[in-house]
Amino acid sequence: MKYKLRERFYLGSKLPPKGPIRVIGGGIAGLLTGFFLQQRGYDFEIIERAERPGGLLGTQQLERGLAEQAANGFLWSPEVQALCDALKLPLLAPQPSAKKRFLVRGQKLHRFPLRFLESIVLLGRALWPHRQTLQTASDFGRVYFGDAFAQQVLSPGLAGIYGANADQLSFPGALSPVARMLNRSDFLPLAVWRHRRAQPKAPGGKRPVGTHGFAGGMADLIDALQERLHAHLRLGVDGLQYRDSTDYLILTTPAHVSQHFFSGPLAERLARIAYTPLLSTTVLLERTQLPRFREGFGCLIPRSEGLHSLGVLFNSCIFPQRSRDPKLLSLTAILRQDESYPDLLARSDADIATLLKEDLSRLFGFSGDFAEQAIFRWPRAIPIYSPALYQSWPELDRLLRAQYPQRQLFGNYTGQISVRGMCEAATREIGTA
Ligand SMILES: Cc1cc2nc3c(=O)[nH]c(=O)nc-3n(C[C@H](O)[C@H](O)[C@H](O)COP(=O)(O)OP(=O)(O)OC[C@H]3O[C@@H](n4cnc5c(N)ncnc54)[C@H](O)[C@@H]3O)c2cc1C
Repeated sequence: MKYKLRERFYLGSKLPPKGPIRVIGGGIAGLLTGFFLQQRGYDFEIIERAERPGGLLGTQQLERGLAEQAANGFLWSPEVQALCDALKLPLLAPQPSAKKRFLVRGQKLHRFPLRFLESIVLLGRALWPHRQTLQTASDFGRVYFGDAFAQQVLSPGLAGIYGANADQLSFPGALSPVARMLNRSDFLPLAVWRHRRAQPKAPGGKRPVGTHGFAGGMADLIDALQERLHAHLRLGVDGLQYRDSTDYLILTTPAHVSQHFFSGPLAERLARIAYTPLLSTTVLLERTQLPRFREGFGCLIPRSEGLHSLGVLFNSCIFPQRSRDPKLLSLTAILRQDESYPDLLARSDADIATLLKEDLSRLFGFSGDFAEQAIFRWPRAIPIYSPALYQSWPELDRLLRAQYPQRQLFGNYTGQISVRGMCEAATREIGTA
């Protein structure tokens, strides 16, 4: 195997056959863990420092729509469907108007941004076996599809998921499904064919595709989990008081919090996990203020375009009720604090509105003011899936088993960053044992 890939995303030894278990952190990782512990009949409690569970996930009701704090949806999977069925929570499929996805080049929206010669290079590279072991996601893009693809397609696509540049991201860590395919062959078409042949046939025909959500936003999922788990949830309690506990602990807090539950190399490794600071802003504005707007899911923006946002989601095209006024569009832009904007998170709401207005003016010919705006600042939004993080997983797992057999780590830095990925991981770890 060229790339070492894990099937398990909880780090540390397996769960004991019975409780009591204390889950520290009531973000989606902690709530999903609790949901499956409850299904298995464990004696457990979830300790959450904040007065509301959900962590990054949540939805703010605006006067004329709603704004997501972080995730706006997730890709469908049988595990997510099973969770929502158990919670009696209807899943919302994307509207047909969300079908088109755009990439920005030359400050215009394109469905396929590469030029003729760049496309020839892409085909030539894709149809050639490449033997080298790839370290970063950017290496994968350049080697298998050429520089133009790496810069114009892969880099903005990954920044839209991981918030980081492709050259900061580990190839097997951030693109594990692709690495899994390349473990079957260095020749991409053969790798894809072997991968497809090995997939079990999905029962009941076609699977739902695209980003799914809930009528009331991601808060619906958190509310349903809170209701289901209310007897086990302790809100407004700092989990650090259990730092020296000998009970079985599942730590679902971010790495910079979980480090305080350990000493020595484990604490050091967790302390080294870096996070990208991001800002998410949702605006409601008149459709007529964007003369060049096109319906779709959204657009991803390469850094080289000189715009402020990493991408813009067209919320009202994706799900109904994102704007309650049919004249208003709802858009969400994600901005990153980096060398271009070292003080982004400290900027005022008015400054952020100005930055976004500049982007919307260049992309869609925007003019005027927003009808409503909500801004969410996340100093540690998303862990950077760097080669160092990828390499740390087996070591963290080994240290936990050897030194702390009563503790597990799980969260968006242990291998699955998305809500869907974490749901699949929790189902596999606890739900189906
Ligand atoms: C802007 C943005 C957009 C995103 N978009 C998407 C998307 O569209 N789709 C998708 O699938 N994912 C998306 N994600 C990623 C996803 O939202 C996160 O990976 C996920 O919500 C993280 O969940 P978590 O439980 O691991 O961490 P967190 O949400 O950070 O939860 C950790 C919890 O631990 C608690 N805690 C901290 N310290 C203590 C303590 N001392 N004691 C007790 N509790 C403590 C916190 O209060 C928090 O509730 C996005 C993320 C961001 C930032």
